[in-house]
Amino acid sequence: MNKIQILKEIEEKCKQDDLPLKKMANNLVFGKGSANAEIMFVGEAPGNNEDLQGYPFVGAAGKNLDKLLMNVGLSLENVYIANILKYRPPENRNPLPEEIKLHTIWLIEQIKCIKPKIVCSLGNYSTKFFLSGGNVEKMNEIQGITQLHGKVESIEINGLKIRLVPLFHPAAIIYNRKLIDLWDKDMEIVKREIRQAN
Ligand code: URA
Repeated sequence: MNKIQILKEIEEKCKQDDLPLKKMANNLVFGKGSANAEIMFVGEAPGNNEDLQGYPFVGAAGKNLDKLLMNVGLSLENVYIANILKYRPPENRNPLPEEIKLHTIWLIEQIKCIKPKIVCSLGNYSTKFFLSGGNVEKMNEIQGITQLHGKVESIEINGLKIRLVPLFHPAAIIYNRKLIDLWDKDMEIVKREIRQAN
């Protein structure tokens, strides 16, 4: 079986899982992009548009992310995009620890299948999840994205060595010139990591 087929199987199993938030949601928001990607972008949780369409980053934040990726020659052909939570939290409230714990079992399965060399964590929740080593109780001990963006860390997930690049969340930078400039600088670091990975 190739990675595309394995990922499809994982998605089917995830659909069967009685995850918290599932009953309130319209759709599972599993992921999109290339199963053969070397680079993954991981956001926080689906919003209303993602919940209705069943794909991550299809609303305003997604449009911005598409544009930001296009600027550096990246697209769904060479990246994979997923979230910490697989179902939308009501009123887009923050993810709860128990939800993160149970939903990220599937994120880890996605990472084990795709085997990305680089993971870009988008915003606080995603960054804190990876830097706490997936230990949800320790997430609040980790600094915020304002301190951590652009600081590359080597992490290991199930024996897989990954370069983690924390980035601002694309929703946060839509109208913020200062953050756009910081994002552009951080993407230079991402490009360097891509070159070094090859
Ligand atoms: N914000 C996220 O973190 N993920 C999405 O899929 C959409 C908005």
